[in-house]
Amino acid sequence: MSLRKSFPLDEDILHHVFDYLPDFSSLLSVLLVSKSTHAVFDNRPNSITCAVAENQFGPILPHALRVIRLEERKHAYCKAHPYELDDLPKEEHSSSEVITSSDACRLCKNSRVVAELEGLFSWRYKDRTSNSSCLSNSESFRFRRAVYRYWAYQIIFGYELEDRNEDELYVLEEEMESNRHDRASFLCTFPSQEVVEIAKAVDFLSSTVFWAATAVGQYHTDFVNFIVACGPRLVLDCYKKHDLPSWDMDGPDSDFVSDAITDSFRIRGFPSSWEQTEVALVDHINGSGDRCDRCHTVKGLDLWNRTNYSYLKGRIRDFTTHFPKYLCYNGWERLTAELHMIDPKFSSASMMHDIFEMAESVGWNEDDWLCFGCVQLLLEERLMQWWIEQKRKDGLPFEGDCWFGYKCREQMNDEGHARDFNHLCQPTREQPPAPEGSYV
Ligand SMILES: [Zn+2]
Ligand SMILES: [Zn+2]
Repeated sequence: MSLRKSFPLDEDILHHVFDYLPDFSSLLSVLLVSKSTHAVFDNRPNSITCAVAENQFGPILPHALRVIRLEERKHAYCKAHPYELDDLPKEEHSSSEVITSSDACRLCKNSRVVAELEGLFSWRYKDRTSNSSCLSNSESFRFRRAVYRYWAYQIIFGYELEDRNEDELYVLEEEMESNRHDRASFLCTFPSQEVVEIAKAVDFLSSTVFWAATAVGQYHTDFVNFIVACGPRLVLDCYKKHDLPSWDMDGPDSDFVSDAITDSFRIRGFPSSWEQTEVALVDHINGSGDRCDRCHTVKGLDLWNRTNYSYLKGRIRDFTTHFPKYLCYNGWERLTAELHMIDPKFSSASMMHDIFEMAESVGWNEDDWLCFGCVQLLLEERLMQWWIEQKRKDGLPFEGDCWFGYKCREQMNDEGHARDFNHLCQPTREQPPAPEGSYV
């Protein structure tokens, strides 16, 4: 038996097989099959890479390519290196364009960011039951095009995380004002409706940073515009890590997109403001007429069950406001609980799971879709009990019980009393009525 030295297929046929590969990871797998398949690729690397890129990215390829072309020379877009907008890479792709293996890697890397953002966007604005994208082909294309276009705009005009110091930010803000016309001119290269789609994508990125800020108990939100101006990758990082870059100064007052959009509409001579233009990234919302399983109010996307309680963490800034009666004014107890809950490791999904287990016997079901109001009712009923369990697990101390338990009025105003007694308990005595004129 002799060993075959060449691949048992004609080179032209193999070339066609390469051309139909759906993505770069399949191409890599095929290249690893044998030296002879690799040799076929080596004979025609550009046409094969281009064909696979077109298969993987479809109509979004020109938008994705422009972002990596801009990234290659991003340090050229500043005052020190004047440039003309006409000289910037265009949103186009021809099959003769060379796409190197390093281009392919960067395309895939950026595409993962856009795909993860799309999954999150779909979960919040299209279909609450799945955190994988349920967008239709046309919705997905519009979303991705808007995000890539914003990314291109951000590379040319935006910030970098390293710019996070007061002097640098001051210079950048001045630069932002001076290049306002360039920013508007850049946006004028797109149809007006698609410019509003970019604004919608930016709104979504901003709300994602707000979510991360809420999840870590951050009240100071000056940095939101800055983070969005640093690009989609940083926004996604903030969401995934439930964390934000440290920040101790004033951020930019407004986002750096809306003023340019307003100008771009004025340049085109449109009388109406762009905010009133009817543009939606999503054509149809799945389950928009769905009702709360408990109170039967129609709430659509704003319904919650075990599949999306992980998202609750960035929706409720401070869970301790749901402690019962006067316990929610006990600053001492709330601070201890808040510190536990703003930890990036804290999971609102696990907390809700524990709470449903405690409340199962009285009819609460983790699989039911509940409106936000009903979720809050459950928290008011069970959050205290859950926190008692967590304190025990964390080995935190319990002082002696106050007679009046969570209904004690003194815990609100007397920090020493709040600290020296345990109020995570039922009252064992009736508290005397509040004095005349008292607000409780
Ligand atoms: Zn309800
Ligand atoms: Zn007390």
